[in-house]
Amino acid sequence: MTRTSDRAETVVVGRRGVARLRRGHPWVYRSDIRSGDRQAGLVSLVDERGTALGTALWSPRSEIRVRYLAPPGDVVDPSWWARRLCVAAARRVTLGIDSTAYRVVHAEGDALPSLVVDRYGDLIVAQLLSAGLEAVRADVLEAIHDVLRPSAVLLRNDTSVRRHEGLPLEITAAAGSPPDEIDVREGTVRFGVRPREGQKTGAFLDQRDNRLLMGAVATGRCLDVFTYHGLFAIHMSARGQSVQAVDSSSAALAVARTNADRNPAGSSIHWVEANAFDHLRRLEQTGEQFDTVVLDPPAFAKARGSVERALRGYKEINLRAMRLLAPGGLLLTCSCSYHVSRERFTTMLADAAADSRRRLGVVRYVGQAPDHPELLTVPETGYLKGVLLRSLE
Ligand code: SAH
Repeated sequence: MTRTSDRAETVVVGRRGVARLRRGHPWVYRSDIRSGDRQAGLVSLVDERGTALGTALWSPRSEIRVRYLAPPGDVVDPSWWARRLCVAAARRVTLGIDSTAYRVVHAEGDALPSLVVDRYGDLIVAQLLSAGLEAVRADVLEAIHDVLRPSAVLLRNDTSVRRHEGLPLEITAAAGSPPDEIDVREGTVRFGVRPREGQKTGAFLDQRDNRLLMGAVATGRCLDVFTYHGLFAIHMSARGQSVQAVDSSSAALAVARTNADRNPAGSSIHWVEANAFDHLRRLEQTGEQFDTVVLDPPAFAKARGSVERALRGYKEINLRAMRLLAPGGLLLTCSCSYHVSRERFTTMLADAAADSRRRLGVVRYVGQAPDHPELLTVPETGYLKGVLLRSLE
């Protein structure tokens, strides 16, 4: 295993790749590499004249061959990983995060490409998402141990992007004994996270600030569509008169119910197991009205080619949700599809608003919580977008 960068092999980067690195993007694609194959791990980058560019991770099977780490002169050893981790962790302290669960490392967004590190109390759940990073796993785990001092570390390496890297999918304990379930507090809401089974690393931490926002502004009759483990619904139940929450997964709703029982107003939530498209249509047909609606669907566009179809799906649910709004009602509508840009999402909403014959005002544009930093020069670090709208009838 490569432990330091002093012995790393050299990789030659073509002009286009160098220009991309200089623009602040850490990836070099296969087509911009001018040297032969290497083993997964750390490599030294040079341009076509032999000028040193720095140290990077090398993935022999991925289209993204190179992920840039550090400038020439930096030795990428366990203490280097620890320093970068320290910077990322220190940044979180300044964010005033009102939760015991948050993201400590958002990969490229924290200059630690292909590494995700989430904290759930004293448990760390991490993802190693490239072959280059997998090759230095021991160094990364040592740094996590030294800097974050967790009681246990679970690797949720079961995400399909690892397939593009030629890596196996696995869920394994890397340190200590990760519990099956851990209690989390988010604002005043309490819920349980099962780190081996929950989506992503156990929960959708990227929506935390939007859940806190809806907990603060929800009124009257509330509707949470695509509720998963019930978190928007539970936040809204503290202020709303009544809350209905919808999801097609009975397993997700079973967890949502137990989460609700941990919170004072949660027991009043009405849970509905249904396809959101059908359910919204039914609510519209029966003339129901809501004062607060949340739409937080899964990514409808998983690839660039499915954007048009995804937009049709987004438009349908948004059009129906707009028609369900009582005068003065609030709609928080979200998309976590990276391939659907904020511009296209906003245009789709305008089309839906026109068809719904409602006047909708923008209260606030929202995005992923700031512990998931989006880098201007690396658009791939940003994916979650949302708008809080008010019916101006
Ligand atoms: N709002 C949640 C996250 C939602 S994840 C949070 O803040 O934690 C998306 C959810 O949509 C999943 O629970 C999934 O089961 C559900 N889902 C996917 N397709 C659906 C459909 N057609 N109808 C209803 N629910 C659906």
